[in-house]
Amino acid sequence: MGRIISQGFVDSLKRKAKRLERERRELTHSQALDLIAQQEGYENWSLLARNVERCTGMKRVTERYPYTIHLRGIARDSKRELTMRLSSKHPAAHYEKQHWIHWTLQGGSRRSDSEATAVMTDPGERNLWHRLVRAQRMVSFLDATDLRASRSTRAVYGSHSIPGCFDHDCLWKDPEGRYIVTVEPYMRWGHPDEIRSLCDSNEWQYELLPKGYGLWLPCDASCGPECESHTRMFVISPKRQGGDLQATVRAILSMPRLWPDIVADTAPCLSV
Ligand SMILES: [Zn+2]
Repeated sequence: MGRIISQGFVDSLKRKAKRLERERRELTHSQALDLIAQQEGYENWSLLARNVERCTGMKRVTERYPYTIHLRGIARDSKRELTMRLSSKHPAAHYEKQHWIHWTLQGGSRRSDSEATAVMTDPGERNLWHRLVRAQRMVSFLDATDLRASRSTRAVYGSHSIPGCFDHDCLWKDPEGRYIVTVEPYMRWGHPDEIRSLCDSNEWQYELLPKGYGLWLPCDASCGPECESHTRMFVISPKRQGGDLQATVRAILSMPRLWPDIVADTAPCLSV
């Protein structure tokens, strides 16, 4: 499994290596760095540094929207705070009620504020980390597709309940009031075949997106082509009042595939 770390975290590791070097005079500077990298699960410092370059290089793509959201995540188990900065098309309040975001805006943020602080708390740091990353993916998904979360399940499923094979499903409405459904099964344990046959029998159009796209737990840069441990996204346009499937798919595929720059207030050890 790969490991994602931010530049802020690397700087704290460098300081740690300096301290180690002072304590153990026999070590050279590069030996101290290698030892610190090994504590973080890397073979040596240059491998760790390469990972960071990859992570920070990709996230720059996001700096293209007029609004900034400072997202603070508070983990109750470790008492640590993880922070992240998002660039968005709309003010933070626009995203508050969307699927899976669940953050609280601080300091009475108004709908027009170009900067806002949002807070997320979680009992566990690892889960919090996933929620922060998911919120980031969700914001870029909403910005790319112009969809909004919808609760009108009756419009799509009629009197039926949401199909049991729909893992991590979300219902969306486009600006014209048409519906799109996204479903994200784990490919190994999920229900991809059931989803396909359900769509076929209802005459719902669908596309299965390539690996690495999606909201719940898509593949990351460390996954090989054989990976089946992550989720993949089906984009579905229902027969009744269905939205433009191809336009939605194109918008999602245009999303920057990025690594978040999460900074912790003390040195974290975050693996994904
Ligand atoms: Zn994967």
